[in-house]
Amino acid sequence: MARNYKTIDTKLVHAGEPEPLIYGAVAIPIFQSAMYEYAGETRYDDIKYIRLNNTPNHVALHEKLAALENAEAALVTSSGMAAITTTLLTVLKAGDHLLAQSTLYGGTHSFLTQDFADFGLSYDFIDGDDPADWQAKLRPNTRAMYVEAMTNPLLQVADLEAAVQFAREHNLVAIIDNTFASPVNFRPAEWGFDLSVHSCTKYLNGHSDLVAGAVIGRREWIDRIMHRLNHLGGSLDPHACFLLHRGMKTLAVRVRQQNHTAQKLAQFLEMHPAVDHVNYPGLKSHPRHERAQKLFDGFSGMLSFELNGSLEAAKTFIAKLQLPIEAPSLGGVETLVTRPATTSHSGMSPEDRQKLGITDSLIRVSVGIEDTNELIDDFAQALEGL
Ligand code: PLP
Repeated sequence: MARNYKTIDTKLVHAGEPEPLIYGAVAIPIFQSAMYEYAGETRYDDIKYIRLNNTPNHVALHEKLAALENAEAALVTSSGMAAITTTLLTVLKAGDHLLAQSTLYGGTHSFLTQDFADFGLSYDFIDGDDPADWQAKLRPNTRAMYVEAMTNPLLQVADLEAAVQFAREHNLVAIIDNTFASPVNFRPAEWGFDLSVHSCTKYLNGHSDLVAGAVIGRREWIDRIMHRLNHLGGSLDPHACFLLHRGMKTLAVRVRQQNHTAQKLAQFLEMHPAVDHVNYPGLKSHPRHERAQKLFDGFSGMLSFELNGSLEAAKTFIAKLQLPIEAPSLGGVETLVTRPATTSHSGMSPEDRQKLGITDSLIRVSVGIEDTNELIDDFAQALEGL
């Protein structure tokens, strides 16, 4: 029987672990077996097979992930995009319409703008802060609403409470991408969301060495998404399950350190004369700081900013940094910097980026777990003379 662990720190370590321990193994072993002996299963989805995402490594992760967000159920997928696309292709059927926040992760944005029509699906982008806009775009065939906890790369915080209420009133499935916040900073089920999706590639794994995704939420939906995933084939390999499981155990200590350093770094950058502005929900200057304080237990390890100078200044600054690596993606133990226009949002047209305020010179930082002061000193030396 699942034990009732009280805190996220304890759940990360103990929830979903096999009981009794397998041959006493403290770390769950990797079950590298594609198929399993027939044990009288009567449903296709119950036959044990890696593609059906139900081997011991999957089951342990599913239980742990559900426990982290205080949700009913969870499943892992082969990538964050597999989690997002399989969820949307389960919740929506041909002819349905989606309301989606306009400032989405580039891959999700492209899936809507480039692929949705091929599935007979339609969407409208909405301003996450403006319920009147949601009402205006609501159609009789609208089935779901899709938002992000903190948007990538501008760290905007939509009116998530109003979004859930709107979804309830209009019988829409409320879906949120919780990648940026992580379950340490935000647990969508507690606020009424039906489903949360994650790129586990980021904080949940935290070590920049695998690609994986997760969907967490109401059991009824998770069962249906799992069924569709079994057909679409986006299951997670047991070895990747093992790495994700190992990485997740330290999520809380990593994320709290990243929250702390990001806050200090954001404050430092905001005061620096070479910096024009900083986007970080933990700053009092953030337009939705109070809302973020109410919703989140921490403001994340992500921030973005612009220098006063040109694109060249941004390039020079990045080249001068010693500690951070210039790379896309986020959520790992090492600090990464990137210009989203060249990486995460390069699939978007320049016009779309401009509309959303993602300039070519915007710099995004994913703060790692290096020493806070050492990291800030490095930013300081890279800003000198700019
Ligand atoms: N959601 C967010 C917020 C992301 O930043 C990303 C990737 O950067 C994804 C989803 C997609 O995840 P993956 O690369 O694991 O498919």
